[in-house]
Amino acid sequence: VQKEVSPSQDPPVKVVVRIRPVNDHEREGDRTVRKVSSDTLSVGDRRFTFDSVLDPKSSQEDIFQLLGVPLVKNALAGYNTSILSYGQTGSGKTYTMWGPPSAMVEDPSPGSLQGIVPRIFQMMFSEIQKELDNSEGKQINYQCRCSFLEIYNEQIGDLLDPTQRNLQIKDDAKNGFYVENLTEEYVTSYEDVTQILIKGLSSRKVGATSINSKSSRSHIVFTCVIESWCKGTSSKCFSSSKTSRISLVDLAGMERNNVDDAGRQCVREGKNVKKSLSQLGYLVNILAKGTQSGNTEDIPYNSSCLTHLLRESLGGNAKLTVICAISPDNKSNGETLSTLRFGQRAK
Ligand code: ADP
Ligand code: MG
Repeated sequence: VQKEVSPSQDPPVKVVVRIRPVNDHEREGDRTVRKVSSDTLSVGDRRFTFDSVLDPKSSQEDIFQLLGVPLVKNALAGYNTSILSYGQTGSGKTYTMWGPPSAMVEDPSPGSLQGIVPRIFQMMFSEIQKELDNSEGKQINYQCRCSFLEIYNEQIGDLLDPTQRNLQIKDDAKNGFYVENLTEEYVTSYEDVTQILIKGLSSRKVGATSINSKSSRSHIVFTCVIESWCKGTSSKCFSSSKTSRISLVDLAGMERNNVDDAGRQCVREGKNVKKSLSQLGYLVNILAKGTQSGNTEDIPYNSSCLTHLLRESLGGNAKLTVICAISPDNKSNGETLSTLRFGQRAK
């Protein structure tokens, strides 16, 4: 049972590890990764401690309860929140974030296979509805808009409009910081969000067949901006407004060996992935050490598309969750250790 934690007490950075189950090509006997306690795991004889460790028996509902519930509360309290899923290809990043495509259309239930993202929006709209139902004496308004993009080879593509493949990040005095021409869809229900997720994830899949396993070399970012405002009609309520941004990121595979049959192009993509993930690690490390005292001016956000895009989600009034997805098999030990080291840098 989770303790209730108020958004202000919830730590700015949380890092959890999820160990996926052994698959058909692996043997239980080759499993070198073990959960030792609720927050510690071992890889061979090395031990690592994080905020939590989820073992192969953990369900999609378990990870939602652990990370999704506090995220929704933080977001509705006005914090910018994000989840990054980090790990090698095949470690369970996509499964954890979105779940299998067939599960997306199911009604969310504790036993369903939906990932953390659809569950987050189911809870968010139900919390918003509760607030509207109890809004005596206040006029509460919510407006939520979503976008879904892919970063492939340092180019931003719109997953909701696949004809848009090289979008630019703009930062101007009038509009602030935004991706030019990126589709934004207004949503008012859980069903609206799942439609967008299904559409966006299938565009990523189309790309995946054109170049062998392209999806392992792209980052995808689902963003929802929530604006709310309240007009008081009684002395109990003062006029107020809040804006928060939820960023949900399924990162490219962190494996170093990104070279395959497709040749040169992959080498370049691999280099871009490696560079953007290491910039992200650097940034997350600075943030974990505490930016309150530090000077955010010096943070190198513009060093890659990914960090540039996550700028508003990672600095200042923000809550970040990193999910390190790992495979249990000893053949993956090198990548597993490297994934855990990334997670440790974030602490
Ligand atoms: P990644 O996105 O990291 O490349 P995937 O999420 O695609 O990895 O997972 C690889 C395979 O393992 C998929 O077939 C997925 O369904 C399965 N899988 C991953 N995590 C789990 C889990 N916790 N329980 C059951 N199957 C899982
Ligand atoms: Mg994936």
